[in-house]
Amino acid sequence: MSSSVIVYTSSGCPHCHKVKEQLQEWGLAYEERNVSEVKEYFEELQAKRIFGTPATYIGGKPVLGFQPEKMKQRLEAAGIAIGGGSAAEGGAAAQGAADHSDAAGQPLTASGAEASQGSGSDSGNTLFGSVTADVLDRVYDLVVIGAGPAGASAAVYSARGRLSTLVIDKAPAAGTLATTHKIANYPGVRKEVTGLELVTEMQQHAHDFGASFVRSQVLSVDFSNPELKLLQLPEGTIRAKSVFIAVGAKAPGSKIKGEEEFTGRGVSYCSTCDAAFYQDRVVVVVGDNEEAIHEATALAKFGREVRLLVPGSTVKVPEEDLDEFAKLPNVQIYYKHRVKEIAGDESVDRVIVNTPEAGEQAWDVDGVFLYLAGMKPGTSFLGNAVELEEDGYVKVDELLRTSVDGVFAGGDARRTPIKQAVVSAADGCIAALGADQFINGRTKLRPQYA
Ligand SMILES: Cc1cc2nc3c(=O)[nH]c(=O)nc-3n(C[C@H](O)[C@H](O)[C@H](O)COP(=O)(O)OP(=O)(O)OC[C@H]3O[C@@H](n4cnc5c(N)ncnc54)[C@H](O)[C@@H]3O)c2cc1C
Repeated sequence: MSSSVIVYTSSGCPHCHKVKEQLQEWGLAYEERNVSEVKEYFEELQAKRIFGTPATYIGGKPVLGFQPEKMKQRLEAAGIAIGGGSAAEGGAAAQGAADHSDAAGQPLTASGAEASQGSGSDSGNTLFGSVTADVLDRVYDLVVIGAGPAGASAAVYSARGRLSTLVIDKAPAAGTLATTHKIANYPGVRKEVTGLELVTEMQQHAHDFGASFVRSQVLSVDFSNPELKLLQLPEGTIRAKSVFIAVGAKAPGSKIKGEEEFTGRGVSYCSTCDAAFYQDRVVVVVGDNEEAIHEATALAKFGREVRLLVPGSTVKVPEEDLDEFAKLPNVQIYYKHRVKEIAGDESVDRVIVNTPEAGEQAWDVDGVFLYLAGMKPGTSFLGNAVELEEDGYVKVDELLRTSVDGVFAGGDARRTPIKQAVVSAADGCIAALGADQFINGRTKLRPQYA
């Protein structure tokens, strides 16, 4: 099959899902080539000197990673009109899947378990509708901004408690949980799932109880009228009696020179997606958190040498996990080392590293995997409507009430020492019960018992 849009994907790759979702949203047909499932696709991509997924070829030219603006430019240059709607859902995605089943080849994933995961999240999220006149006409009991674990969990409780509930999310597959490729610690979910699979289950659960979901961005809010809170979307104004701010927090944009230029050509963020490209090669993993260790461990199964560069003097994982990692024969840990620049010709061939003893050094490497932490809440759209802390976290009390009656905030958008899905989900519960108390004028919070 030939197509003017070809998406090279891998199993368990959250950004691949985002690319496909974006194309579907634009109503565009595409051919999917999963490099984890089909060896020939893997080799095809490698031959193009591309070592990461997603890689989207539009009119023969690649867009590496998830870059909607660049995709738009390429589409325009190729004379492909963006249609809108979700026309491609059954068509293109299904076509891609059919291609895979016909082709021969060995799966090429970081682990066998992951090979069967990714495609499960590929169905496209049909839960999220558009903002219709009906949605704009109503006054909702609770409007939730953000459909991550905090927002989705709030919607479960709120809808089950018979509050009319609307959840708004600008990019449901792009939240922190949705882009986490493997979750193994969510209580009660024993098999490893992708973050997207987990959060979609939560959303579906809320939907089953009657919550509505729309895809849109809250641009600003007006909480000056205590009876009626207003949320401005590009499509119009949403009205709510109570609001839950569950917009999460994101790592700020890249600071490393060369990172953007070499994304997909030696810079990666996902070992599950891209480790196979680094068989017998030298890779650098940058980070000091659990994910960095986990990813470096996965890479050590493929790479000849894995160098973990820790910006500070500690790694934030339990000592026994670090010891276990350090015992691997092909890994080395470098403390107080920072990557200053990522460089190369067509693809990455070296990094410039600031070292504590020898100053700046150039290291020959084939790949750089980045897991630098540092999160910033996405709350700037709130302006002065609620009190924020200096770094943008929403100020809340122990019941997640903000400075405005009937407005709650939780999950990663409030300051919490533990950013985890289960904590966010618990926040959703507290906020929804708070909204119920506020709307129904109860003197106490009323828990839900079966
Ligand atoms: C690398 C990494 C690995 C992790 N691994 C784990 C793990 O293994 N286990 C675990 O439990 N936790 C893990 N976490 C933490 C977990 O993902 C977060 O704590 C959790 O997702 C926070 O949930 P949330 O609902 O507050 O925010 P999010 O999950 O980020 O969801 C927020 C949502 O709000 C939407 N949104 C933002 N602004 C707007 C707006 N203006 N209008 C409309 N929508 C908006 C976003 O699109 C997004 O979907 C990990 C985090 C990271 C960074």
